[in-house]
Amino acid sequence: MLTEHSPIVERSIIDAPTGIQAVIDVLSRDGYRVLGPTLKDDAIVYGDVSRVTDLPIGWTDIQAPGRYQLKRRCDRALFGFAVGPHSWKHFLYPPNARVFSARKTRDGVIFTPVDEAPGKLALLGVRACELNAIQVHDRVLHDGPFADPSYASRRRQMFVVAVNCSHAGGTCFCVSLACGPAVEAGFDLALTELTPAFRDAILVEAGSEAGIAVLAQIARQSATQEHVAAAHAVVQQTATQMGRTMQTEGIKELLQNNPHLPRWKTVADRCLTCGNCTMVCPTCFCTTVEDHSDISGENAERIRSWDSCFTLDFSYLHGGSVRSSASSRYRQWLTHKLANWIDQFGTSGCVGCGRCITWCPVGIDITEEVAALKAEFEAASAQGDGDA
Ligand code: SF4
Ligand code: SF4
Repeated sequence: MLTEHSPIVERSIIDAPTGIQAVIDVLSRDGYRVLGPTLKDDAIVYGDVSRVTDLPIGWTDIQAPGRYQLKRRCDRALFGFAVGPHSWKHFLYPPNARVFSARKTRDGVIFTPVDEAPGKLALLGVRACELNAIQVHDRVLHDGPFADPSYASRRRQMFVVAVNCSHAGGTCFCVSLACGPAVEAGFDLALTELTPAFRDAILVEAGSEAGIAVLAQIARQSATQEHVAAAHAVVQQTATQMGRTMQTEGIKELLQNNPHLPRWKTVADRCLTCGNCTMVCPTCFCTTVEDHSDISGENAERIRSWDSCFTLDFSYLHGGSVRSSASSRYRQWLTHKLANWIDQFGTSGCVGCGRCITWCPVGIDITEEVAALKAEFEAASAQGDGDA
């Protein structure tokens, strides 16, 4: 459900995996389409989940710049992996969506707005960084002056089963952006897989009335202080595993005031402008529209598709693209995401999920680029010839 805050209102212990199956069953009975992590094409992606065995049980991932690989764990953890190439925007703001269809008649053209009832979605396994990303989208697509009706409809009917991370991916850096690894708000239920001392036990925290109602329908025990402490320890350990940080202090001024630092060119020499980073990013929401007509010319439709500021067309105005070089496009992406978003939406556009690092084919690392830009600026300032 769309909630600003999720005060913990009830804590219970359920068995894994039977307790999770019970949660899926209750949500399905309540009319939700349950989506969660699944194994597909050698990656963990989001898809329909009707059985707990649809989850990637006993799998984990190895992630590094430009590298993603699945590996067997030595246990049967249900959520022992980090985020994959999919984010929840695939379902809340789909890659392709029909905006309207049009039909030519003798009396003129009739436009029909698309009114596809998206139905109720239950998201199972939402990480803290992803909850933060959804809240960023809420500001733009739900609460903003140009709300997207389809997003708003999906969002209002959504049930969130969040998961506290027990495994930091090789490219995660949510801690430095205060976006994880503990889930703090915006969930109906939050799960924590406990340490081996509490074998096959999951701490479930209800954060809304809807969450309490689901929990009331499944077998559970009251959580003890020991369970809560064990869950806290899991998250603490995950936080200490994170090998990357993003230097956020003064980042807005650094990026907005220094468009001519040599590092923009250095990174552009490697960047393929493929747009992968924007496609996998859970907060990027830029789109374009295309009109298609059938062969008779009497029926047409307008399709909205994800777009990327890395394409030449994206900044095409009369006569050409405003951002014709790779360096200007990389600078646009980074400056918009980490600086201009703060002016526009009151928040950074980055939640530290690390996807853009993992899925960049040449392994460009956003944390490394920010650090390099900062170092260059400081060196130039020390010599008195900075951009700023
Ligand atoms: S930074 Fe990487 S993923 Fe993004 S456009 Fe450049 S090459 Fe592609
Ligand atoms: S910019 Fe990169 S690390 Fe930040 S939210 Fe987007 S994909 Fe994740």
